[in-house]
Amino acid sequence: MLVQTPLADAIVGASPFDDPERADLAVRTTDNRLLFVYKAHLVEASPFFASLLSDDSADGLEKYKGLPVFSVFEDNRTMHFILRLCSSCAITVAELLTVATECPITDTLDKYLMEAPQERIADIIREAATSSLLAQDPLCVFGLARMYRMPDLALEAARQTLNMAVSEWPSGRRESLRALSGLDYQRLVRYHDKCGQVAVEAAGIELKPWGTCFRCDSSSTVYQYLHLGRRGFAIDLYNKNVSFSYEDMLKFAAIGRIGEMFRNRPGRKVSAEEIELICGVAVSQCGGTQWEVRAAIQWAVDRLQEDVDLAISRVPLSLE
Ligand SMILES: [Zn+2]
Repeated sequence: MLVQTPLADAIVGASPFDDPERADLAVRTTDNRLLFVYKAHLVEASPFFASLLSDDSADGLEKYKGLPVFSVFEDNRTMHFILRLCSSCAITVAELLTVATECPITDTLDKYLMEAPQERIADIIREAATSSLLAQDPLCVFGLARMYRMPDLALEAARQTLNMAVSEWPSGRRESLRALSGLDYQRLVRYHDKCGQVAVEAAGIELKPWGTCFRCDSSSTVYQYLHLGRRGFAIDLYNKNVSFSYEDMLKFAAIGRIGEMFRNRPGRKVSAEEIELICGVAVSQCGGTQWEVRAAIQWAVDRLQEDVDLAISRVPLSLE
């Protein structure tokens, strides 16, 4: 016997496993609780239980109110959750977060070869991620995906964190971060740093005192060119020999900073406002219409964005 305490002293567990009338098996936990279940749920969820609870082996078990009693090595809290997973009770992501950090859920599922309940957990997490959690709280999804061994979702969540600066990540004792280990947090920060480096490089948005405009083909030493990406798209930005207003200089400075913003938010997209800002300055030098210049800049930015995405996709998320 696993449990030394007499069966007579056992306490009935919590709902929905508290009714011996709606069960054909009692599961006895290490803290001497009895959880009443239908054998079929366990048999269906676990080849381990399927072989243990075959008809003749159940005959030799102790009885409680006529039900065979099967003793397990888990405590009440762990087993209650496992049984809920097996019997399709509703389970929320918040519960997964709490119980997984306080009980050995994945180890127990492994031990009992419970693939379907494991898949059920994955479905619950995926569904929450898709509905809004991935966009709102990618660190929470990352923690859950790591805890419940979903490497593809972990990578997707890590990529999603790139839309924020590390300084904007939730921190402290936030409930949603409880699945995230300190080590994984550090790995994620390193991944973010590395992605920031390659994104700035791939974006290659820089002001240079030379270039050849990819739109109008002009090439002049008196022009300052804005280089967009690594494929050689440059556009005439301003004439260096003209004196500028203070407002103009602020615009040039703002344009010069656009590329550097990829360091803090490697997953960012160059915004419509930023394209408008570049276009507003470039249009008077490049000679085309507003529409032509904006379309050309948008096209170059789209290519640049592809290059950034590609560079980020090559950064390994080292988790082991
Ligand atoms: Zn031009």
